[in-house]
Amino acid sequence: MKTVFPPPPQPLVAVAGTGARFPVRRIFCIGQNYAAHAREMGTDPTRSEPCFFTKPGDAVVPDGSTLPYPSATSNLHYEIELVAALGSGGANIPVSSALDHVFGYAAGIDLTRRDLQAAAKKAGQPWDMAKGFDRSAPVGIIAPASEVGHPNRGAIRLALNDTPCQRGDLGDMIWSVAEIIARLSQFVELRAGDLIFTGTPEGVGPVKPGDRLAGVIDGVGTINIGIA
Ligand code: MN
Repeated sequence: MKTVFPPPPQPLVAVAGTGARFPVRRIFCIGQNYAAHAREMGTDPTRSEPCFFTKPGDAVVPDGSTLPYPSATSNLHYEIELVAALGSGGANIPVSSALDHVFGYAAGIDLTRRDLQAAAKKAGQPWDMAKGFDRSAPVGIIAPASEVGHPNRGAIRLALNDTPCQRGDLGDMIWSVAEIIARLSQFVELRAGDLIFTGTPEGVGPVKPGDRLAGVIDGVGTINIGIA
């Protein structure tokens, strides 16, 4: 098909054990999915309905990248998260078959302009510019579920300049990956290529230029980025 200018490049994520890459369609995220993190953000986890938001597909950043410090913030925060990468999708997916749609898993970082998010919350405004900015979604190499299964417990941790800052366990998620997929698919039709950031454990904090972030999710993989 002829286009008036060349189509934008397809965002891609590396997959373990193959040269073939995972083509990204959309990026969905859930907020406050670990009770301890909800508490540190000042909300009551027992009353939290799942809060979904999105990032653009081309916000993905490959493992090992060094990113420029983003514009329009002086409080950029890290959030280490398990990322589910969908190989198929649908609408109104039942919890019982939700994991059949997961191609694989990766460690990701939901970079957040926390100052803008706090202002948006206070004003009752959307989070788009706080969460969905350029290069806001570093994602590590995807481990296929055919190799690693569907991890539902295990350590998830992040270090800032080699000092541990976040630590949690996948078993402490309020909404499981299957429940997130089922719920999200009631709002939007999910498709192959969708990435779902499944929330962060406690210990979020700021990064500054020159910092390095190193995340590990047991049985899944790693994510390493630098801030220029
Ligand atoms: Mn997050």
